[in-house]
Amino acid sequence: MPEHDTSQVPSKPKAEQDQLTEEPKIYPVYVYERTCQDIFNFCLREAQRRPPREALGVILGFRRQWQGTKYVRVTDWATGQVESSMTYARFTPEGILEYRLALHDRYGSNPHTPRVIGLWHSHPFGGNPQFSSTDINTFFRTPFCAEGNVFFLIDPLSRFFKVYMLRRSSEKDVLRLERVEWCTYQPKVPTDTPPSEDAWDSEEGGSDRA
Ligand SMILES: [Zn+2]
Repeated sequence: MPEHDTSQVPSKPKAEQDQLTEEPKIYPVYVYERTCQDIFNFCLREAQRRPPREALGVILGFRRQWQGTKYVRVTDWATGQVESSMTYARFTPEGILEYRLALHDRYGSNPHTPRVIGLWHSHPFGGNPQFSSTDINTFFRTPFCAEGNVFFLIDPLSRFFKVYMLRRSSEKDVLRLERVEWCTYQPKVPTDTPPSEDAWDSEEGGSDRA
């Protein structure tokens, strides 16, 4: 067993606890607490329909690096009209426009706008969810196939919340989809100069099916 299980929705943020240790651990993925809960609750509502439905949306955030270690900060989410069943979910063309407009309304021309860096979706079966081959094909296609993009797989009935990331393997120059450790965080009002963060965003991800 791992030291702690990061597959399920945490009851409270772990990032703050980790700051107490001398060498803070850098998780590959940090998810804003409210974003995590909102996505989870959205999936739960869709799963409680009769019949249950998959839920789908985009992940917004920033790819960052701190002292040479790359990590991702997930700050927001969005969705739009989705064609879905218990085993299937795909944005309609209107749905894509809908979430893009919603993001434009939310962020306008703010230069610090988070980017679409992945997808979240649910498998509402009450088990330990696994990606389908269709899911994986989607992640490895344009425009999602970019280093640092993240994908959440949620089963709201069994409270699984798994986080995966496309990472470049060190030996071969190929991207691999890896399940990663993650934690939630709550933004704090800065009391001091924050550590500098270097962006390593290269290209925008933003596709539309899972
Ligand atoms: Zn799926």
